[in-house]
Amino acid sequence: MKCVKCGSENVNCTTSAVVKSVRRSFLWNLFMICITGGLWLLWMLVRRRKEKVIMITTATCNDCGRSWEVKR
Ligand SMILES: [Zn+2]
Repeated sequence: MKCVKCGSENVNCTTSAVVKSVRRSFLWNLFMICITGGLWLLWMLVRRRKEKVIMITTATCNDCGRSWEVKR
């Protein structure tokens, strides 16, 4: 892999897991509860623990220090 900035091959790759919550904002939930007549509240309880784990690979150049996210 080559550095996107200086073109050096001296690049370190690290992969880390990031937990991304799919929870919506409070106002959004309030709005949905209003228009679904409370059904949204049930839906929220059902899928409360839904979280997404995504893997992010970050490459860091040892020559210029530039780091960027590697798209797969
Ligand atoms: Zn570089």
